[in-house]
Amino acid sequence: MRGASLFPIGHLYRMAWSSARDASSAYQRNAGMPKENAITHGLKQFERWVQRASEDPAVLGKTFSEDRNKVPLSAATGVIFRAIMGLDPMSAGPVEIAKVLKESPDDELRLACDNGIPERHELMEWIRTSTEAWESGKFRRILAVLEDWEPGLCAPSCAHERVGQIARESGRFYDRAVSRVAERDAAILTAEATAIANAWQDGVRAGDALLAEVVRRLQSGASSES
Ligand SMILES: [Zn+2]
Repeated sequence: MRGASLFPIGHLYRMAWSSARDASSAYQRNAGMPKENAITHGLKQFERWVQRASEDPAVLGKTFSEDRNKVPLSAATGVIFRAIMGLDPMSAGPVEIAKVLKESPDDELRLACDNGIPERHELMEWIRTSTEAWESGKFRRILAVLEDWEPGLCAPSCAHERVGQIARESGRFYDRAVSRVAERDAAILTAEATAIANAWQDGVRAGDALLAEVVRRLQSGASSES
């Protein structure tokens, strides 16, 4: 189990075959050695291999190839490794496999979600320069409407998943800000503060997703559409 978490199957094959060879030659060298002892010797050699290779991977050498006659890999293994993941099942290591699995279709969809959201500095620039173009209070009303906004998700945990929650918190922030500063300044400050939600989940632009929707609604003049 420990070896499997560290090395490709091809390396484990090499360790297993050389351990078996050692056990066999110990058995032949020592007349009268019980078979059980030879087997135990082989298993210990295998453990030593795993230990040695985890301390110094340079001892590993080249991976063994698949033994198609004695221990062939299943057809399913071939399909999953070669066709789906594009990896050689004998030489692909756990780190490499984990990396390919992480780049799943969901990740691509999340990336497309992020790429579909306008740049924050463009959104902020528009808000800063257009405050005279929308009636006061409209920014706050849009946030209130967006509390219940449930857009279709591009992928699980995409930037749109929590826009409702972020709209609610942003609305509260706005209410506190507007007791100290003018409405239009409160709107700009709140728009800036949505950036904090980008840190909610690493690399997911949740705050930008909300800001983009607010800007879209300010521009379209429809504060009550859902
Ligand atoms: Zn999305």
